[in-house]
Amino acid sequence: PQVQDMDLAEFLPKVGDMVRNKAQVNGINVTCEVAPDIPTVLADPGQLQQVMINLLNNAIHAVVDRHGAKGGRIEVVARRDDRNQAEITVTDNGSGINQESLSKIFMPFFTTKAPGQGTGLGLSVCHSIIDSLGGELTVASTKGEGTTFTVRIPGKSA
Ligand code: ADP
Ligand code: MG
Repeated sequence: PQVQDMDLAEFLPKVGDMVRNKAQVNGINVTCEVAPDIPTVLADPGQLQQVMINLLNNAIHAVVDRHGAKGGRIEVVARRDDRNQAEITVTDNGSGINQESLSKIFMPFFTTKAPGQGTGLGLSVCHSIIDSLGGELTVASTKGEGTTFTVRIPGKSA
C-alpha cells in the first residue's frame, strides 16, 4: 500500500463526485460535509477510495431497493472525534438491515443481492483495509429506516 498523508477535506468531496451521477440517475441526493478541523490521516488513497466507493455503492443499492428512483438520500459527514480520529459516517435512508444479517455483513461472501449482483466481498475488504490502518468500521441500522456506516481512522499526531 502507498500510505501517505491524506487531506480528507479534499479527498471526500471528490469521492462524492465520483458517485453523484449514478446517484442522481436514481433520484438520490448525495451530500458531503467535512469539518474544518478534520485530522490528517495516513492511508493509501486508492484503498480509502475503494472503501468509500464500496460503502456508497451499497448505499445507492439499498436506497433504490426501498424508494425506487425517488426520494433517496445519502450523507457523508466527516469530523474529528475526541480521540483525534477522523470519523467518517455514510448514512442512507435505504432499506436498512435486519438483526440477523447485521451480524454477518462483514463476513466474506455474505450477500443478500441476487446472483451476479454482488460478490459479498465489499464490506469484508473494507473492514480489512480500515483494520490495517489501525481504525475501525462499524454499522448501525434499522430495517425499513436506513443505515449508517462509521469509519474511524487515527489522526496523525502533531
Ligand atoms: P455485496 O454488496 O456484494 O452484497 P457487501 O459486502 O458490500 O457485498 O455487502 C454485504 C451485504 O450487506 C449486502 O448484500 C447487503 O445485504 C448488506 N448491506 C451493505 N450495505 C448496506 C446498506 N447501506 N443498506 C442495507 N444493506 C446493506
Ligand atoms: Mg457491496
